[in-house]
Amino acid sequence: MGWRVLCEAGILEPKRTPLNITAVVLAGGLGTRLRPITLNIPKPLVRINEKPFLDYLLQKISSMGIRDVVLLTGYKHEMIEKYCRKGQKWGIRIKYSREPSPLGTGGAILKARKLIKNTALVLNGDSYFQLNLQGFLSSHQKNNSLATIFAMHGSLSDRGAIISSKNGQVLSFLEKQKGGFGLFNTGAYLIEPSALSFLAKKIHSRKFSMEKDGFPQLVAKKCMYAYKGKGKFLDIGTFAALAGAHKILLPKSQKKEAKIGAIFLDRDGVINKNRENYITHPDEFEFENGAIEGLKALSRLPLPLLIVTNQSIIGRKLASRKTLSKIHDKMLGVLVHNGIKITGILFCPHMPHKNCICRKPKTGMLLAAQKKFRIDLKKSFVIGDSSGDMLMGNNAGCTTILMATGYGGKDAKHPGKADYNAKNLSQAAKIVKELL
Ligand SMILES: [Mg+2]
Ligand SMILES: [Zn+2]
Repeated sequence: MGWRVLCEAGILEPKRTPLNITAVVLAGGLGTRLRPITLNIPKPLVRINEKPFLDYLLQKISSMGIRDVVLLTGYKHEMIEKYCRKGQKWGIRIKYSREPSPLGTGGAILKARKLIKNTALVLNGDSYFQLNLQGFLSSHQKNNSLATIFAMHGSLSDRGAIISSKNGQVLSFLEKQKGGFGLFNTGAYLIEPSALSFLAKKIHSRKFSMEKDGFPQLVAKKCMYAYKGKGKFLDIGTFAALAGAHKILLPKSQKKEAKIGAIFLDRDGVINKNRENYITHPDEFEFENGAIEGLKALSRLPLPLLIVTNQSIIGRKLASRKTLSKIHDKMLGVLVHNGIKITGILFCPHMPHKNCICRKPKTGMLLAAQKKFRIDLKKSFVIGDSSGDMLMGNNAGCTTILMATGYGGKDAKHPGKADYNAKNLSQAAKIVKELL
């Protein structure tokens, strides 16, 4: 398992393995239905809540773990390239394939064939949805499919319908429907490079529609499937849809979602045994008695678990960040094995006299977590063994639970106040549960 440090305050979170998939985004259309807006800018750059639509889409692609993106451009190519550049802003690598004149969806994709070396996820530059890529991809692979459509169930009005067999094999596509309910084509699909080679051999025109001319060839070959997805689906092709998009893509800060509390756990003396001279090597890490049982109980609660720990060993040069990371890998390995999920680890690497904002009893680490995970500190709990843990919790408005393990609050360094006392983590979990 890999973990990475995200910021100086030391948030660690699981590293996503980049997916061996190329996202191919159709962004070359004229956007005629959105005129006059699209007279001056291409449709993917139409702004929604101050940001171009394409920005949301590329962010989504990046968050799915995809690193390689091919943008198929045409109309107002320069504006798209100028805005997206090489994709650094989203942590992706963008390559461009520009159609000099409209080639249709199929023609545009075949033109970019050299840039597509692995399974391609083709997306419309004017639609957005919550896509469960893992499920989609594993279904595609399980079926040994050459192309798999991301289909959804819903109103068929003005949408292309899909007729499929029980196992998902596509039997036929129906033109845009007037109404009714059923499986419709979202316009997103996974396609193999071998399917593109096959189509290149079969279709002799440079300009063609993938949906109308390409897919029927794959259906006839009996190697095309539909995957039934769920969630929100949104396109910005029309003014009516555009209005809806403004609501759905509202920035998180403007959404009135209720923030949740978290459980902040001290590490030394709570999860693992304290040692006289710090823990500077994985071999020195030993779990506290009953800690794993207690952590299991805590992780059954509906609050994220975050570890918040002062690790001045780094500032004191007693261990490197790499070693600390190894110590945490050892700990997380055991926890994951026991089904315990830790949402993040925050550590302060500084020495006390550096007067940083993150060292407990200061609240810097809690504030970093609050921001990153949208946590309501007033609904949160701090579980620790020292007076510094308690004072940090008091300062941030959290409920504090003092453990009998480790220092058991007897360090008396700070005027921290415990709201509750627990002899072990199982008991702490009970206290939290009763307060929820
Ligand atoms: Mg401690
Ligand atoms: Zn610090």
